[in-house]
Amino acid sequence: MDRRILLASVAGLLGLLSFRWLRAEPAKAAEKFEVEKTDAEWRAQLTPQQYEILRKHGTERPWSSPLLKEHRKGIFACAGCDLPLFSSDTKFDSGTGWPSFFTSIPNHFATSQDHKLMMLRTEYHCARCGGHHGHLFDDGPAPTHERWCNNGLALRFLPSSGKSA
Ligand SMILES: [Zn+2]
Repeated sequence: MDRRILLASVAGLLGLLSFRWLRAEPAKAAEKFEVEKTDAEWRAQLTPQQYEILRKHGTERPWSSPLLKEHRKGIFACAGCDLPLFSSDTKFDSGTGWPSFFTSIPNHFATSQDHKLMMLRTEYHCARCGGHHGHLFDDGPAPTHERWCNNGLALRFLPSSGKSA
């Protein structure tokens, strides 16, 4: 076999292998969730804005959420599946224009990394329905120094007094 042909085929094979490897990278197994619905079912259940946030990783306009002024005792639950996510005891005014919490109810969120806006951010989503809620930062208040920056439209407030929100 001609040496040049051999080298060319080795290079071709390596090229093919690396191409396949690169292609395999984004094809990670999708997370499985207890609540899974079709796109059409989510569109029917959610408002267009909620759909954009929860299912398409959208972000609401800052200062637009009525929950910023919600100071009653209660639970903030997922607007997609009603899983309790935050207690009112952990809510604080971050000054960012989004409802913010210094911790969440354990194991009710899962996280991932995203590179939107050219920086690495920790995205978090509901562990039951996979709905996107917001981003987690490390500049929050004591005791955790966490800042869970959440879209208000992704939450449903359930006051513990029994009065409706
Ligand atoms: Zn959910």
